[in-house]
Amino acid sequence: MTTERGRTCISGLRVLVTAGPTCEDIDPVRYITNRSSGRMGVAMALAAADRGAQVDLIHGPLSVAVPRHENINAAAVRSAQDMHDVVMERAPEVDVAIMCAAVADFAPVQTADRKIKKDVDGVPRIELQRTPDILADLGALKTHPFLVGFAAETDDIENNALQKMAKKNCDMICANDVSESGSGFGSETNRLTICLREGAPIRLPMLQKSEAAERILDEIEANL
Ligand code: C5P
Repeated sequence: MTTERGRTCISGLRVLVTAGPTCEDIDPVRYITNRSSGRMGVAMALAAADRGAQVDLIHGPLSVAVPRHENINAAAVRSAQDMHDVVMERAPEVDVAIMCAAVADFAPVQTADRKIKKDVDGVPRIELQRTPDILADLGALKTHPFLVGFAAETDDIENNALQKMAKKNCDMICANDVSESGSGFGSETNRLTICLREGAPIRLPMLQKSEAAERILDEIEANL
């Protein structure tokens, strides 16, 4: 839907959101993961659903409740590879993809079927491999949805965000300084800088993640 001012509303559009961490299994009881709670992705999914979008929420194991909303279709996944497969399958039908998940960068090459016994097996050497980069793989598609990435940085935030946008071929990057307290992993709030392909970066103040989600959606609607 387009308003008189030429702005595209996401109402009625299909929006895919990834959220939370992924878990990379070592054996049936041990795994590699990270500190992501999934709050930012859940806030994005709820804000988009409230604006009337049909939301596919593809999430890893969350520390917050999976939102229940008539416009949200949630799918739980575990590993980066699982998330990659679901996202790539749905990508052709999606108008906007908002990649909030803190996808694990490395996964064990092999997952043991049985618990590795400390007394029998000794200290294991776990060989790791890179996980697929979901955002980059979406950006490499011939036609891809409007692509929004997130960047957690500790220094030179805007430059790193701009480099990430070019490398992963996205339309927008929302960067945050994870070294600042109250911003990033696990917190209720975030201080984000929105970088677009053109124009100056938009520096948002420290906001509740729900408010930050609204500001991000405003920019998505203005740039679709
Ligand atoms: O390269 P980096 O992990 O910093 O990029 C962060 C962005 O890329 C986030 O939007 C994240 O969801 C996405 N990403 C991804 N697949 C990966 C790694 C990151 O989609 N394997």
